[in-house]
Amino acid sequence: MGTHMPPDRPESTVVHEGFFDEDYRARYILAVEELGHLLEEIAGERSLFAPVGDSFRRIEALESISQDGVRALFGPKKVFFPDYQEIFRFDARGRVEDALKPEKRAIFGARACDVRALGMLDRYFGEMDEPFYKTARENTLVVGLTCTESMPSCFCTQFGGLSDAGLDYDIWLTPLNDGFLAESGSEEGKRILASLSLPEADEEHLRAKEELIKRVEESMDWKPIPDELIFSSMRDGLEHPVWKEIAERCFACGKCNMICPTCHCYDVRDETDLYGNGKRVRVWDACHLFRYGLVAGDHNFRGKRLARAQYRVYDKFYYPVERYGRFACTGCGRCLDVCNADIDLRDILKRITGGTAHGE
Ligand code: SF4
Ligand code: SF4
Repeated sequence: MGTHMPPDRPESTVVHEGFFDEDYRARYILAVEELGHLLEEIAGERSLFAPVGDSFRRIEALESISQDGVRALFGPKKVFFPDYQEIFRFDARGRVEDALKPEKRAIFGARACDVRALGMLDRYFGEMDEPFYKTARENTLVVGLTCTESMPSCFCTQFGGLSDAGLDYDIWLTPLNDGFLAESGSEEGKRILASLSLPEADEEHLRAKEELIKRVEESMDWKPIPDELIFSSMRDGLEHPVWKEIAERCFACGKCNMICPTCHCYDVRDETDLYGNGKRVRVWDACHLFRYGLVAGDHNFRGKRLARAQYRVYDKFYYPVERYGRFACTGCGRCLDVCNADIDLRDILKRITGGTAHGE
């Protein structure tokens, strides 16, 4: 199931679009014991980030990296768009110091849904030509990893599934019986893999990858809905009873925003001391929170919970289609996992497109 909608929509200026090129494609077999060499090669000149427990973290010791076969609870969004980002410092004399400091980095273990989400952040931040995100993205090597199992909340088959086709990465690893299929997707990825003197992969390894993807995708409890039906149902469904139902249950806590790999709203604040020195910082914001729509004069343009709950879903399945020609959801299921009100995006999609939700 594709993520593209009917093409009469303008494409925005994007970071890294068109980066992938078949000329950069090389395929090797990486034995399990060679993985450490690959990571050392990558980390040699870069700070390495990878899943540790429930989150992507800066890696000090390779042994701390999680061995899970599925995505982490928190994706790698923070590596590119931190929840608290210093923009510049200033002092009482008016001196200003820019906080933009490029750092060579690599992320290891990003799943297809994680890399697909980065493609969406590329669109949002690329449209603004935003320097912090752009610098982080341009200086970060992306090493993807095919999932070997799914979680009950995964429904990425709606948005492209486990396939790395069309994704923007440097190296893609797929666990096979006796090691990994290692594929390059950029000039740098190709150089790194070539430096390891690995045996080349063959058709059988590619077939094994396809079989793994098929098995994991079939393990998901989700039957994809046609993209056009989702879009048209959103367009015509503003008054659907599902919105009132979820608004009555939603706590407006914003957890689903914070965990979402494509949510990208932020607030900008100045933090100062008593002497007039301070810093300007960017912090994550969430459209579910009451104060999100609060503006001067105490007016709140989305003061009702129903409006906020509805907006978040429209900002995944309607507005991004109008702006970029694609959905802004990857089906990672993270918002389902963290919601204390058991609000399940899959149920909303089923209800609004005329199906029935789980348990109905
Ligand atoms: S996590 Fe659940 S309860 Fe909290 S804002 Fe999101 S939908 Fe509402
Ligand atoms: S809306 Fe939910 S399922 Fe979709 S990308 Fe965000 S966290 Fe994942």
